[in-house]
Amino acid sequence: MQKQQTIIEESLKALMEDESFLPDLQAQTREQAFKSLVALLSTPNHIHKSFLRVTLDDNTIVRIPAFRVQHSDTVGPYKGGVRFHESVNEGEVSNLAKLMTLKNALHELPFGGGKGGVVIKPKEYNIKELNLICKKYVQYFDDILGPDKDIPAPDVGTGEREMDWMMGEFKNIHPGEPYRNSFTGKSVVNGGSLGRREATGKGVYFTFRYMMHNFLNENRKWLSDTDNIFANTALNHHDQKLSMAIQGFGNLGSVAALEAYQCDYLQNKIVAVSDHNVMLYNNDGLDVPALIKFTEESDGDLPTTEEELEEHEIKAEIRERDELLEMDCDVLLLAALEDQIHEDNMERIQASMIIEGANGPITEDADRYLADKGVLIVPDILANAGGVIVSYYEWIQGREAQFMTEDQVFERLFDKMKYTMDTILPQFFGDPFPLRQNCYIHSVMKLSTIMYRQGKLY
Ligand code: GLU
Repeated sequence: MQKQQTIIEESLKALMEDESFLPDLQAQTREQAFKSLVALLSTPNHIHKSFLRVTLDDNTIVRIPAFRVQHSDTVGPYKGGVRFHESVNEGEVSNLAKLMTLKNALHELPFGGGKGGVVIKPKEYNIKELNLICKKYVQYFDDILGPDKDIPAPDVGTGEREMDWMMGEFKNIHPGEPYRNSFTGKSVVNGGSLGRREATGKGVYFTFRYMMHNFLNENRKWLSDTDNIFANTALNHHDQKLSMAIQGFGNLGSVAALEAYQCDYLQNKIVAVSDHNVMLYNNDGLDVPALIKFTEESDGDLPTTEEELEEHEIKAEIRERDELLEMDCDVLLLAALEDQIHEDNMERIQASMIIEGANGPITEDADRYLADKGVLIVPDILANAGGVIVSYYEWIQGREAQFMTEDQVFERLFDKMKYTMDTILPQFFGDPFPLRQNCYIHSVMKLSTIMYRQGKLY
């Protein structure tokens, strides 16, 4: 994810050329300020790492690498998920922490950015061992975590169960102290927020729907004047159902798929979905509710055999998992892991719009190649912020000990995402930058201004 670095620098460069950005800069020339800000934005404040000592059920003792990276607390306490995955490493967690800083700043949340990770394949551990790993994570990083210091949340491989366990351990270690807001993404019964589980998937689809609405109504003229493959697809869309392929059918992909399936306004059809085993394809549109029902009964996996499909009356062809990315479709939603579209497959991508549900799913080279070709890429920090936005509402509700209804949560979530897009989209029409760059410029401007106001450039 070198691309973040490049885009941060390009965004700062563009901002520095504008005299109204940091106009009363003192003690430094603009060139010095540029260098200082690049340094401050690129490096994390702290990298905490440890080897969790865990005794497994068969009495073997293992040492499990674990991280918490605190990138920036410029805007508020560090905030971001904890990932349980075998590919977790220090560099990846650092990049993801940086992305959280940018994401939280973009949506004007009162949080900085952080990220955690544990190098395990969760399916290889039983429930008791996983509980122990969660407790150890909190024990090892206890002194740097807390409701006003650093607030973890779910990410790949973790969910409400893990957050409940971690909060429980935090409470044990800090008797008599506030603990409810030490973690977000908890279960509702344990102080979590209604709607948090669906928030990322709903937010991703809302972003897409609102952008399409904007393009097809307010900015129709811009589409007609723009000669690229995305504009062509969007303009033709009234005559056909926009087809969508979704990589990943976990909490994000399945919720977004259901939103698309139920949305009358855009009438999308989901022509393909994939998970770690398989891709399912149906050119007339897949029966998303039936697929969700299947995954609920199968520990999250999609059907992999003809018999399973028949038994559940699901009409679909079974295909190779990785074919999904290169399919003939209008919209590609990436809801799996990072670096999925890269130098080796970028030339075969056929979608004219790509939505980043996952964090960092497109490499730097592929990002540039596709943007130049006229593919509209809706960046992660814009599209997938629903989770952290509702984490923020969970944090507020926990402080006030007053809880919102699910409808109130979603209304506030969509208002917030709409507000961000209403800020970003007009810029996008007025200048030559890709949408990702516009989002970065907004975040970098906000972070730099606050750092300057807080006296960090002296
Ligand atoms: N892991 C999610 C993300 O990448 C949510 C973070 C949070 O709720 O703090 O945005």
